[in-house]
Amino acid sequence: MTMHYPLLVSNILNRARTAFADKEIITRTEDGTHRYTYKDMGARVNRLANALSALGVKKGDRVGTFGWNTYRHLEAYFASPIMGAVNHTINIRLFPDDLVYIINHAEDKVVLVDPDLVPILEPLAPQMESVEHFIIMSDDPEPATTLPGALCYETLLAQASDEFTQPEMDEYDPAGLCYTSATTGRPKGVTYTHRALYLHSMAECMADTSAFSERDTTMAMVPMFHANCWGFPYSSTMVGANQVMPGVRPDPQAICELFEEHKVTLTAGVPTIWVGVLDYLDRSGKTYDFSSLRAVISGGSAVPVSVIRAYKEKLGVDLVHAYGMTEATPIVTYNRVKTHLEGLPEDEKYELAGSQGLVVAGLEMRLVDENGEDLPWDGEQRGELLFRGPWVAREYYNDERTAETYIDGWYHSGDIASVNPDGYIQIGDRVKDMVKSGGEWISSVDLETAIIAHPDVLEAAVIAIPHPTWVERPLACVVPREDARDSLDRAQVMDFIRDKFARWWLPDDVVFIDEIPKTSVGKFDKKVLRDRYQDYVVG
Ligand code: ADP
Repeated sequence: MTMHYPLLVSNILNRARTAFADKEIITRTEDGTHRYTYKDMGARVNRLANALSALGVKKGDRVGTFGWNTYRHLEAYFASPIMGAVNHTINIRLFPDDLVYIINHAEDKVVLVDPDLVPILEPLAPQMESVEHFIIMSDDPEPATTLPGALCYETLLAQASDEFTQPEMDEYDPAGLCYTSATTGRPKGVTYTHRALYLHSMAECMADTSAFSERDTTMAMVPMFHANCWGFPYSSTMVGANQVMPGVRPDPQAICELFEEHKVTLTAGVPTIWVGVLDYLDRSGKTYDFSSLRAVISGGSAVPVSVIRAYKEKLGVDLVHAYGMTEATPIVTYNRVKTHLEGLPEDEKYELAGSQGLVVAGLEMRLVDENGEDLPWDGEQRGELLFRGPWVAREYYNDERTAETYIDGWYHSGDIASVNPDGYIQIGDRVKDMVKSGGEWISSVDLETAIIAHPDVLEAAVIAIPHPTWVERPLACVVPREDARDSLDRAQVMDFIRDKFARWWLPDDVVFIDEIPKTSVGKFDKKVLRDRYQDYVVG
């Protein structure tokens, strides 16, 4: 028998602050750069835990964060869990209504907020019934704000001890809470246990997953409020990697500068970020040294093969596809080429890189039809993906919608995919984004991926519009590159994709727009487009 030893978030931090005491956390700030070590961070995490205790935060209480990716936010990622409280990361881009809903639903006792975001919370604070204190994450001892019970982060830390004794805890105690960004309905909360966060970090550190290592300098471009920041804060700390925090509103130029200056090796974000960086480089004509980057992870929505190819061919950088969701802490798959596929012709290798990859060790996956029957992994048949495993949620937090998604011990993803005999997943669509034409499904993602490969196209989203005969038909919404705004036309787009699809798959029309609307986490917001074009008449 082995020891009964709980898997706790504190263990992740303790190793970093002792074995990697001098490794650094570097934050881009308004007036330059803030740097400190894991040793400094460990002491400040203890101070924050003591300060929160002194404010009355108890085991199981929720502590909200409302901030950018910074060292203070990272401290909250550890301080709440080590004292037995729950780190609730709040999406700063949600509509006011949803913000009030989330904070009340989570019953946050304290909310940590970045100074520039205070004006968003001020008018809403009177509706937030549970919040006793807002802590402004700055060193201004008397922050000018109408937020009730506002306190200064640095003053609190200065007054607190840097020794902290962790209370008794169980690995199944909650440590984190994150709400999905909710394209329909109210956001749904997902609780992460210590055990889930710990095992998820170990899975990310595996050589065939993202292989976090002490050798890395990581930089999450995914916001700390999106799906546990895709594990970056915990996995980086677990191995003692240097961490770069991009701070307030990082734009593509700032991203490129940070990569170069700090020799970042591993980063992650949604495709919109990576398309934005490419576009910035194209337009500015600037060049940067990206030779340190060993992987740019792209997830959150499908990344077109043409973007993966452009990263390799123009920048010499591997853009790696990963897939997951808030409900799975979030990593589910990671794309690695298996040894026996290394000899594939280049085009086929890029196609493979465009798939979502292989389910990571530790999780189980099924592909099922609409009756819940298992489908073969033949690369052809499409069905819904189901998952289960130690970091997959089993319920939504205090939410009756749990029963719609968690059925017979499996999480029903709502993602339609095929799986090839090698286990590579190819996601066709979310159920709600598919176009149902004459009773047959058309994948909007497949069409988008083909259109965006056109050299004059910056972004493309395909949506369903109502049709009197076929019920729904696809409409392509296309954003041309700046220098092609006057030249790109419908015929060019249609000619480009015509021989890649059956005739009935082709969009009925192409509309040109300035920008694809984005959700609060930077994904295409097809709901907005569907609303905009619901009365669209072709021609
Ligand atoms: P939200 O549902 O609010 O967008 P999540 O980030 O949790 O928040 O969304 C998870 C969903 O995003 C997945 O179920 C899937 O539909 C989509 N997704 C995530 N990663 C990928 C990917 N690599 N390719 C295609 N779709 C993806």
